[in-house]
Amino acid sequence: MFCEPDRTGYDLNFRLFGFPVRVHPFFWLCTLIFGESAWNPDRPEFLLGWMAVAFVSFLVHELGHAVAFRACGVGSHVVLYALGGLAVPWDHVNGRGKRVAVSLAGPGAGFVLAGLVWASNQATPWAGASLFTAFLYTQLLWINIVWGVVNLLPVFPLDGGRVSQEVCVGLLGRRGIRVALQLSVGTAGAVAVYSLLCLTAFAPLMAVLADAPWWVPVGGLWTLVLFGVLAHQSYQLLQQLSWTESHWEQ
Ligand SMILES: [Zn+2]
Repeated sequence: MFCEPDRTGYDLNFRLFGFPVRVHPFFWLCTLIFGESAWNPDRPEFLLGWMAVAFVSFLVHELGHAVAFRACGVGSHVVLYALGGLAVPWDHVNGRGKRVAVSLAGPGAGFVLAGLVWASNQATPWAGASLFTAFLYTQLLWINIVWGVVNLLPVFPLDGGRVSQEVCVGLLGRRGIRVALQLSVGTAGAVAVYSLLCLTAFAPLMAVLADAPWWVPVGGLWTLVLFGVLAHQSYQLLQQLSWTESHWEQ
């Protein structure tokens, strides 16, 4: 998971700000599946609008990483794949602070985009022009803010997981890897449980969510699967670490 996918004959290739960008066909398939609720046979522009918003938002996120790599003197290319993407560096980034900055730059770029979208509507109100513009506006804010925050959770291999690893190792040395993985298992497990409770409409939670502000994300099947898999992955890494350490000591 989160490795660079192989090239296919259906890849879309272009350059943006000097960065090679490749869009894997699986990206379009995933945006199509996740935008399913926007589908209306009489108004196909809603689904197409959602796909365009997802494309721009994930591209801006990855370009945020790519620009930060460049600022560190490291080239990179961008791949959009599944519901997200990767900025693949061509060299190692030296310096813990720089690596943390590179990880934060993706969600940071999304927050800046959300801010610009919000400011543009404040300057010249456009979101209220029609149902469609209102849809584009809320989707742009939603993806860039909510997905940015979710991405900052200290879970491997999300951006927040990379940051927590750097911080924990910086503070605790070798032991930091174990602590960061434990944090990853705990957080991903908690999100998976939250998603399951949302999915089963657990009454006490529903009562709390009913009064929650609009931006509080409600878990669903995809967050349950994603964070369930990530919790399992981090748990396996933790087991491997224990095995390596016990054999190292003997
Ligand atoms: Zn990222």
